Amino acid sequence: MIVLKTVEELKKMRTAGRISQRALRLAGEAVEPGVTTLELDSVVRKYIEEQGATPSFLGYGGFPASACSSVNNVVVHGIPSEKQVLKQGDIVSIDVGACFEGFHGDNAWTFPCGDISDEAKRLLDTTRDSLFEGIKAARAGNKVGDIGFAVQRYAELRSYSVVRDFTGHGVGAKLHEAPNVPNYGTPGKGATLMPGMAIAIEPMINMGTYRVKVLRDKWTTVTADGKLSAHFEHTVAITPDGPVILTLPD
Ligand code: MG
Repeated sequence: MIVLKTVEELKKMRTAGRISQRALRLAGEAVEPGVTTLELDSVVRKYIEEQGATPSFLGYGGFPASACSSVNNVVVHGIPSEKQVLKQGDIVSIDVGACFEGFHGDNAWTFPCGDISDEAKRLLDTTRDSLFEGIKAARAGNKVGDIGFAVQRYAELRSYSVVRDFTGHGVGAKLHEAPNVPNYGTPGKGATLMPGMAIAIEPMINMGTYRVKVLRDKWTTVTADGKLSAHFEHTVAITPDGPVILTLPD
């Protein structure tokens, strides 16, 4: 069931979104060669807790950390570790959620570690831009399939592939709500977007095959061919005046 949010609830989500955005940005600023992904997780947890919010992912389904940190061929759900030391040329996707007064904000960004290759840069640019293509399609009266189509077309025209096994989602009092928001789709198909809906749009774009596999820790999801993957996400409210990104700074 799709839960519509009141204006008051969307205000709380805006605060949660601002906190999760700032935590994500601080973690991104900490990305550099020699830093461990566990240190990035500490940055996220500390900031969110200082704001009187809670990290949405900590303990969610048993997830053991506050942020997901997914390096290079890891698509999503990488577990922060003191053993994982970032090195020059890596790309690291960080996914952060914060819960404030009972409502969640959810966002992700892929950061370069030092200088990265031109082909990695192009993957990051394309994945980020495909997110904004999806957001543009997130208008009341449109369908969920319009969002997926917009993301998919943008990525595939640039010879990348779209992960199928994980999708965006409704977000609100729960971190994951209906509807699922796939990053692929057919225009005019799927649930109708209505004012009061809040959704996380989160393209996961691969350089090679779209196929992924989950490692034995039951979280870490890697590309089946070992090639790079990127992930960008915003929480977006559907309003009569168009999409409003809740996970932005002031
Ligand atoms: Mg999400």
